[in-house]
Amino acid sequence: PQRRPYNFSAGPAALPLPVLERAAAEMCDWRGSGMGVMEMSHRGAEFAEIMASTERDLRALAQVPDDFAVLFMQGGALAENAIVPLNLARRGRVDVGISGSWSAKSAQEAAKYAQVSAAFDTRGEGHLSVPDPSTWRLQDDADYLHLCSNETIDGVEFQVLPDLAAMGYRAPLVVDCSSNQLSRPFDWSRIGLAFGGAQKNIGPAGLTLVYVRRSLLGEAHALCPSAFEFSRVAREGSMFNTPPTYAIYMAGLVFEWALQFEYAGLRGLAAIERHNLDKAQLLYGAIDGSGLYSNRVAAAARSRMNVPFFLRREELTGIFLTEAKAAGLLQLKGHKSKGGLRASLYNAMPLAGVEALVGFMKDFEHRHG
Ligand code: PMP
Repeated sequence: PQRRPYNFSAGPAALPLPVLERAAAEMCDWRGSGMGVMEMSHRGAEFAEIMASTERDLRALAQVPDDFAVLFMQGGALAENAIVPLNLARRGRVDVGISGSWSAKSAQEAAKYAQVSAAFDTRGEGHLSVPDPSTWRLQDDADYLHLCSNETIDGVEFQVLPDLAAMGYRAPLVVDCSSNQLSRPFDWSRIGLAFGGAQKNIGPAGLTLVYVRRSLLGEAHALCPSAFEFSRVAREGSMFNTPPTYAIYMAGLVFEWALQFEYAGLRGLAAIERHNLDKAQLLYGAIDGSGLYSNRVAAAARSRMNVPFFLRREELTGIFLTEAKAAGLLQLKGHKSKGGLRASLYNAMPLAGVEALVGFMKDFEHRHG
């Protein structure tokens, strides 16, 4: 049988084939219950079991400490751009580090609810680096600092999160980790709250993960919708209203897959991180070693997850995409705001997929370069 095409979408993105096959097998009857997961009450015993094992596996995989609540919410990361200030901007002052398009959006949205100050802004250079923390402008009385750990469009990633406490900053760090959660271990000791949409490394769109330090749970703004009050959602075990049950089930299957993932003699998140590093190195190496392709992001800030790149002969972009698709390499088109190409290398993308892409790129350059 022909192999399944390799899918480089930035999200919603490819899921591990064994997960899709298992979901297909369980579609009409979840483990002898006589019901599919979509047909179950979220308050029934069967779904309670799914919810409990999903949270347990997520905590084990990402090593989420006990003093963090994990919330299964809806609304996506863009809704969190409002939900977070509605919950945490108690003094009405927010710092945002702008390292790309998504953090720029977060700053804009937070400005509806708080006074926003840019800790740094790389817009001028076209988002090609992460400035050194010693140069950031941080306010003494801010409620939090917001960063985007991986800019999906610009391909800019924090390789380490800042140690704000060591910098004398008293407020917590908020991280939009939509596109790199579960791709590598996070240092939770540096994080107050992290959020991310599921549709990259975790499962279907419609589920948003929020990891929040319990000490930050408190009173939200009076106008915050009840369904978006972190303290309430935490108290009710993400069951204040109906959670996205099927997406949670799919996420659970992905976590099981990830816990057992093996690579280079490693297992679980360590294996996933090493695999992601090898994939990214292979692709950046091919780009840097060619005369046709380019990526201008500073080496230290290059994303392991999303690799935007351009053809030096821009007019070939359309042909590249058409030929790539015919070769079973899907969804390589760059974001509409940037043009060019982008390969997203989330956890479910095998090294063989990147090898196929790099082989295709070399052949394409040979023929057109
Ligand atoms: N932040 C980041 C880093 C993203 O990658 C995305 C989606 N691509 C968003 C925010 C927006 O997420 P959503 O569409 O789930 O609201």
